[in-house]
Amino acid sequence: MPDTTIAELLRRAARPLLSFEFFPPKDEKGLDTLRKAAGQLVAARPDFVTVTYGAGGSTRERTLEVCELLRGMGFAVVMPHLTCVGSSRAELLEYADELHRRGYRNIMTLRGDPPKGETVFRVAKDGLAHASDLVALLKGRHADFCCGVAGYPEKHPEAASLPADIANMKAKLAAGGDFITTQLFFENRFYADYVRRCREAGVTQPILPGIMPALSHRQIQRFTAVCGATFPGPLATRLAAAADDAAAAQVGMAWAQEQVEQLLRDGVPGIHLYVLNRAHAAPLIASLRRAG
Ligand SMILES: Cc1cc2nc3c(=O)[nH]c(=O)nc-3n(C[C@H](O)[C@H](O)[C@H](O)COP(=O)(O)OP(=O)(O)OC[C@H]3O[C@@H](n4cnc5c(N)ncnc54)[C@H](O)[C@@H]3O)c2cc1C
Repeated sequence: MPDTTIAELLRRAARPLLSFEFFPPKDEKGLDTLRKAAGQLVAARPDFVTVTYGAGGSTRERTLEVCELLRGMGFAVVMPHLTCVGSSRAELLEYADELHRRGYRNIMTLRGDPPKGETVFRVAKDGLAHASDLVALLKGRHADFCCGVAGYPEKHPEAASLPADIANMKAKLAAGGDFITTQLFFENRFYADYVRRCREAGVTQPILPGIMPALSHRQIQRFTAVCGATFPGPLATRLAAAADDAAAAQVGMAWAQEQVEQLLRDGVPGIHLYVLNRAHAAPLIASLRRAG
């Protein structure tokens, strides 16, 4: 049975959707951590879960392995991510066919970041330069694929300006992008401003806010340095003052909870949680489910 598309879930949702993002672990220990967290999080019955591609040296095989694992654990809709990094058009199509054959109908469609040690994105031999090209390739091959695309409330680090980035976003949507999931942000005003600017630019697709419950000061410093998101002073101070990892995770969760409650009051179409293969956000998720 093919997966329900997320576009369809968004259309018929009576309440905001809930989704989690996992990544393929590097080793057996990481896989064990993922299994345990997923085992706890499945009880929240997220509308869909996603599995990243390429980050941390993982390959498409590992992404697919984790997708299959999550399906086996009872997650209703599993969406693999796919990037243009290091693949020719033919390889991308071969993989798209494999996903389609296995019943996957949702793909988070990305350009991808340069591989570790490189600073500039390089187009692979006979490959693709932009996420919009990948959306067009996937939709051209299987019209029933639903493609999520990435949005950047504080602009993509390479973009000259937020308006320029939104203009490029429109190309992804014109190619067939069905919905947008945002990069993480720690201040909701960035998301609100981004949605307003997108709507003014004529974007009509749902924009799912991406929220990351912080685990530690160092972790957020590292993430925000890469993606260009703002690390708010008050959050940095509270995380730095936490006595240990458990206390820092509590701080991160409380911050995320405030963000999520405000977003829900503002009528967002869903909440996408970067759970980082951990179940530390389980209490936040449980409260979300009660609110829903
Ligand atoms: C929700 C989410 C999930 C992610 N998952 C992954 C993952 O699984 N694996 C991974 O490696 N990375 C992932 N990323 C990171 C992402 O790959 C990087 O941010 C990457 O640098 C850009 O990808 P993109 O799909 O936004 O690219 P694009 O949309 O192609 O944009 C990249 C840059 O090029 C510009 N641009 C786009 N089109 C054009 C054009 N036609 N002409 C000129 N400039 C253009 C954009 O403004 C932007 O600055 C994710 C990001 C998000 C927000």
